[in-house]
Amino acid sequence: MPHNMVVRVVAYTQFLGVPPEMYGETLPDDTDHGSDPARLIECAGRECYDSYRTEKHRASETYHQHIKEVGHGSVTGHATISFLISGISRNLTHELVRHGIGTAISQRSSRYCDESQSTIAWHPLLEKALEEADWSMLDGLVNSTQLAYQVLMQRCQDYLLKRGVKPLDAKKQARGAARGILPTALSTGLIWTANIRALRHVLEQRCCDAADAEIRLLMGEVYLQAKEVCPEYLDDYEYTPAADGIGFCLSTPFRKI
Ligand SMILES: Cc1cc2nc3c(=O)[nH]c(=O)nc-3n(C[C@H](O)[C@H](O)[C@H](O)COP(=O)(O)OP(=O)(O)OC[C@H]3O[C@@H](n4cnc5c(N)ncnc54)[C@H](O)[C@@H]3O)c2cc1C
Repeated sequence: MPHNMVVRVVAYTQFLGVPPEMYGETLPDDTDHGSDPARLIECAGRECYDSYRTEKHRASETYHQHIKEVGHGSVTGHATISFLISGISRNLTHELVRHGIGTAISQRSSRYCDESQSTIAWHPLLEKALEEADWSMLDGLVNSTQLAYQVLMQRCQDYLLKRGVKPLDAKKQARGAARGILPTALSTGLIWTANIRALRHVLEQRCCDAADAEIRLLMGEVYLQAKEVCPEYLDDYEYTPAADGIGFCLSTPFRKI
């Protein structure tokens, strides 16, 4: 991982159980097994076919496999996982927001927050390719842009205050204008929530050699943590090291369920 990328699961779907008044006091022993997200997905699928109690019903374990095989992916849209992520670049988040379907994002505002002391989330390829001397050149450039940011912000704020703009608005407008000088690798943080269906699709698109290495690295970490939460819908992936040596690629026989 780049030096300060941090990913943590902070929430996921809790399944409260199948209401007894709808399906009886006890379900067949081999159903309703596994993680909370998977049990909800199972409930959604079985509701479609009234299949908790059919004579030839599938056990939970084979049920999940069956959902993937037939591509009945909509049932996986009910369960979500939320990740708190920090230390990634705004370049990366610009790619992440393209995955709009089945996801939610709340990201640090560079209009509201002061970025004058913010760090840079260096791309993982730079970390592999650069020598020590190159890093000191980059540090110098970053210091200059931070200084320019502060000067621009102050000038804009003074101008707006003189025009009678309210102080809080003036600050936000000034930061909005000055942030243009900052590198797109500016470090940022967000909460990213995805339902299991969307999560699988993002993993398939971003954990591959064609994807940018930074988002590949992030999604690799997301994958490992999500698999702990809902193994039933993430353990069909095989992973192989990426060609550039950064992170890994995922493949599955069940793409885009
Ligand atoms: C390696 C790589 C390179 C890329 N390069 C570029 C690039 O150069 N420039 C660029 O702009 N983007 C680029 N992208 C982004 C890409 O075009 C998609 O916007 C992004 O990957 C999100 O995927 P998605 O469209 O499947 O969206 P999601 O939000 O993940 O949508 C999920 C699915 O919902 C359906 N869907 C979503 N929106 C619509 C819609 N409006 N109408 C009908 N169906 C819809 C589609 O089936 C879609 O696959 C790249 C992505 C990758 C992985």
